[in-house]
Amino acid sequence: MQHLPVFLDVKGREALVVGGGETAARKVRLLAQAGAMIVVVAPKCGESLRIMASNGQARLVIRDFASDDVARQAVVIAATGLSRVDAHVSKAARAAGIPVNVVDAPDLSSFIMPAIIDRDPITVAVSTAGTAPVLARAVRAKIEALLPTDIGRLARFADGFRRAVRANYPDVYARRRFWEKFFAGPVASSVLSGDERWARERMLDLVNRPAAAESPNGVVHIVGAGPGDPDLLTLRAFRLLQEADVIVHDRLVTPGILDYARRDAVRIDAGKAKGAHTLTQHQINALLLREARSGRRVVRLKGGDPFVFGRGGEEREFLTRHHIRTEVVAGITAATGCAAAAGIPLTHRDDTQATVFITGHGKDGEPDVDWENLARQRQTIVVYMGASIAGRIAARLIAGGMDPDTPSAVISNGTRADQHVETGFLAELEELAARAAAGPALIVVGDVVRHADAWAESTPRQAAVV
Ligand code: SAH
Repeated sequence: MQHLPVFLDVKGREALVVGGGETAARKVRLLAQAGAMIVVVAPKCGESLRIMASNGQARLVIRDFASDDVARQAVVIAATGLSRVDAHVSKAARAAGIPVNVVDAPDLSSFIMPAIIDRDPITVAVSTAGTAPVLARAVRAKIEALLPTDIGRLARFADGFRRAVRANYPDVYARRRFWEKFFAGPVASSVLSGDERWARERMLDLVNRPAAAESPNGVVHIVGAGPGDPDLLTLRAFRLLQEADVIVHDRLVTPGILDYARRDAVRIDAGKAKGAHTLTQHQINALLLREARSGRRVVRLKGGDPFVFGRGGEEREFLTRHHIRTEVVAGITAATGCAAAAGIPLTHRDDTQATVFITGHGKDGEPDVDWENLARQRQTIVVYMGASIAGRIAARLIAGGMDPDTPSAVISNGTRADQHVETGFLAELEELAARAAAGPALIVVGDVVRHADAWAESTPRQAAVV
């Protein structure tokens, strides 16, 4: 983050705009909306500014800028379009320690002006740190489309009940849930559609209803986070992350995904590195139970899909046994995520009849797999947690009758910025895995690997191997 986003209170304070043209007028309008008392300094002022001055929105001082003009200002904006004058304003303001923005000159500015959505009191500010103002406006348009026009009215309505809610729901979690339910429920929508009378009556009901109506036991959402790229989260996972009180995540969950969590959610890293458990499964279960019993909204966040080599099933059974409600949210599993990102169709009418997902590690070491049977089928084989024993897997499949020249890939850090794909043949699977980057890695064996982007790119090397 290149700038700290803050919202500045300029109500009743003086703000200086240097420049007399349309750009300056726009800045005056904005400052006026925030309640500032605006002084405009410029040797010549255009029509818009003169009208604003006659409306009492700004005071015009018709002369050149002088360094002293910045004194006592809450903020200074230079919009002259003349680089010499803009630089002068910037220097004077900086010398006086006053925040200054020079239009279209981030390097002369101590703060930048975001693209703004003003649904008072809701304000959304979008910044690209000065890199692409047009993009900022496009982002703003998208957000604008998502926000109900009357969202400001809803915020004011809620504000009117804040004290009563705080008094009747002293517990911070219960209170948050109350508001979450409120904003997602019928009362809020009737405020938005303009029926405030009905909304007020219902709201009094809700506020006064005993908090005991809430179930004493919390819920655990067992949520798939996908293979790493935050864009591959489901909308439901996204929403739950925003609502969670506690997030218990594993090592596969990338920081970019955790960025979508509510800022003040408690995050617990259950980080299960293979062979180096930070928390045992037993401890994780106990933790989930404890948190859920405290009435919190718990998200158990797992890489990929919780029900594909994710122990989601074990956790769910444990919690159900202890009468905790669970909800499982599917995620994109590593096989589909990585295959898509590497350009490998897991099925292809020319090559395969089936795809199997197997694990390289069973509960007690090597998995109990019928390798011969696997090798015989015309199918794509995807191996999770298999990179460290890639050589053994290849040997078993070849011994089972599979062609050593079967195209194979090792995809490490799939879908992430540092994704790395190695392609080659089954006989050299161990070397492919050795060349893979550190991080989670997935093995794909089958003719479909020929379609991989990396296969086309490394044809010369593979020709040499043949
Ligand atoms: N529940 C997860 C799998 C957990 S097992 C899922 O559905 O994806 C952990 C294994 O998943 C890793 O050893 C690796 O084989 C695979 N994996 C998970 N994320 C991956 C990624 N981004 N790139 C490559 N492999 C990944």
